[in-house]
Amino acid sequence: VRRPLESIVFDKASFSYEGSTEKAINEVDLEIQAGEFVGVVGSSGAGKSTLVDLLVDLYRPTLGSISMNGITSEEAHADSWRSMFSMVSQNDLVLHDTVRNNMLFAKEDATDEQIIRAAKLARAHDFICQLDEGYDTKLGDLGFKLSGGQLQRIAMARAILRDTPVLIFDEATSALDSITEQEIVDQLERFRRGKTVISIAHRLSTLKKADRIFVLQQGRVFEEGTHQELLDKGGIYSYMWVAQTQIE
Ligand code: ADP
Repeated sequence: VRRPLESIVFDKASFSYEGSTEKAINEVDLEIQAGEFVGVVGSSGAGKSTLVDLLVDLYRPTLGSISMNGITSEEAHADSWRSMFSMVSQNDLVLHDTVRNNMLFAKEDATDEQIIRAAKLARAHDFICQLDEGYDTKLGDLGFKLSGGQLQRIAMARAILRDTPVLIFDEATSALDSITEQEIVDQLERFRRGKTVISIAHRLSTLKKADRIFVLQQGRVFEEGTHQELLDKGGIYSYMWVAQTQIE
């Protein structure tokens, strides 16, 4: 697939896990244009992770297709397809390895200068320098020394280094307590420019500025619209929103 990204299209894409008769993704039609900021929401088990795994070609649709710039994942060269995406997720950090190596996974030939520049942009450089062994500190040795927000910044630094047209932002449920909503919103704002962003969000408030939000339920796109449109519609999204804002 040639850069830049023009569009991502799901065409009646369905997917069942091996040994399952249920469709984790069920005839999903959706289109994302270059530069859009798109949210994907839905309750646990709705299909959000599966949708992203299909998009990055970890799995292939059992029926239907996914294409970028008019080329399906079946037709494309796997490496060129995957080179379009970076994941910004704490879950993707390798805890038994060093900060530096975690960055190198994104771009194996990155120089120290490039690593530091990316870390500075992600506002991670200063706290990394304060670690006992700086960039050579193993993430897992830190115990609880790094907050969820700091791990998120390392994940962001890695994505900056990779510099792909599409950023997939996965707000890990396990980290929700330790990253502020403002930190997520700031990161999205600062790194969005020129990129297509797909954010799997648990806190709906981080999607107020999204161009479009897809609400998944049982593997289907049940609702689609902006935050305000979905609130006005009074469907599942507005119900989720009320539930969340009442808790907070
Ligand atoms: P979400 O990310 O919205 O929580 P998932 O995409 O993880 O949803 O799951 C969608 C459906 O697929 C669920 O019914 C889930 O139980 C099922 N599922 C997810 N991963 C697997 C797997 N590796 N094997 C079998 N079923 C799975």
